[in-house]
Amino acid sequence: MKFGKRLMIAVVLMLAVGGTAVGIAKVKKPKADPEDRSNWVRKQIVGGPARNVILFVGDGMDESAITAARNYWLGANGRFAMDRMKMSGSITTYAVNELMDSKAPFYVTDSAASGTAWATGRKTGLFRISTAPFTGEAMPTIAELAHKNGYRTGDVTTDSVTGATPAVQMAHVRLRNCESPADEGVCGDDAKINGGLGSIAEQAADSDLDLIMGGGRSDFEKTITAGPDQGKTVLDSARRQGFDVVTDAAGLASYQGRKRLLGLFNGGGMTHEWSGQPAVETGAASQRCETGQRPAEQPSLATMTRSSIRFLNQRSKGKKKGFFLQVEGADPDKGAHRADPCWMMGGVVALNEAVKVGLEFARKSPRTLLIVTADHGQSSQIIPFTGADKTAILTTNEGSQLVLGYATSRSGDQEHAGIPVPIKAMGPQAANLMGLNNQTDIFKVITRALGIRR
Ligand SMILES: [Zn+2]
Repeated sequence: MKFGKRLMIAVVLMLAVGGTAVGIAKVKKPKADPEDRSNWVRKQIVGGPARNVILFVGDGMDESAITAARNYWLGANGRFAMDRMKMSGSITTYAVNELMDSKAPFYVTDSAASGTAWATGRKTGLFRISTAPFTGEAMPTIAELAHKNGYRTGDVTTDSVTGATPAVQMAHVRLRNCESPADEGVCGDDAKINGGLGSIAEQAADSDLDLIMGGGRSDFEKTITAGPDQGKTVLDSARRQGFDVVTDAAGLASYQGRKRLLGLFNGGGMTHEWSGQPAVETGAASQRCETGQRPAEQPSLATMTRSSIRFLNQRSKGKKKGFFLQVEGADPDKGAHRADPCWMMGGVVALNEAVKVGLEFARKSPRTLLIVTADHGQSSQIIPFTGADKTAILTTNEGSQLVLGYATSRSGDQEHAGIPVPIKAMGPQAANLMGLNNQTDIFKVITRALGIRR
């Protein structure tokens, strides 16, 4: 290159750079647009490990259930605390069509196969609790892996603790109805007397969980028929293996012990929070829900969540690792099965109250991954007028008529629906749950966040 040409390039470059500098100095910083959330979203994306993970599951809590509860309780423009968790997406919910001897999908899952998918990272057949389709092999769960990796673990529900959703973290059986030693006929090879791991209640007592809470006391009052605790009740077996047992809200509030904790607050599932009239085929009349239906001796889901977080966090103090806690609200599903909108909506509101407790904790412990999701769709649809198989009408707090139609089964209970369900997350690794994902991805995200080796 000749000297003249080089000089010319240098001059051009100086002008360009100088010009740019002058240009920057002259441009005014644009005012932040309050409706542009880009920076806020960027701040929400947090990588790296989590110290704690809290997984909230609204059983059957699809967008329709959340929207019905939101309309009724807060109004169409109201927002639940969980609605403000904007790292959100959807989760596909199918199972494996094992009952038809096929490895292909069965498009509508039950809570057992659904929970198994996020608890173990693998899809399975209907009614299975953390066992593989066809082979029946026990598949390790997040709670079991977290315990092995040095975390405290907890499992909370408003259902019986032997119900499918809590069971997926602590038991491995072919059929979800194998709940107590009295279910030997259902348990088959899983029964202890047949050389299996035992019913779900027995496996809960034998588990390494630090905390188990919910209903289902009657399953723990059954007598064990084989193994080291033969002749004892499951409750005695749990005590022998290091659990303290509390049976009411006062016992939970005053508990100061240092052992592991088993809270059994009702014989079966816990009493639902709201009640009202189920949907009817003809002649639905507008109604309001009766709130506050759970007796005071049974703690609310928010109270159980607060106690569990305190319990697990205290035991994690000074340790390198925190805890994994699963919290299930079972009433959105139970209410929808019975075409009972108040039962369902009370369950959504109660779960949201529990999520608030999780959000309070996460504000103080920011290395906490919070996830709120559901396990499958349900039957309620918000429709314009009566005319579905069954209809219920509610007068909402904002004074409008909310019409809910039910048409997923004409005989008996309403059925689940095969739609993707919402997922909302916050904290380390939450960004990995945005968009449309599979339930098995929840397992991957949680185990990655906790640095669990599989
Ligand atoms: Zn269900």
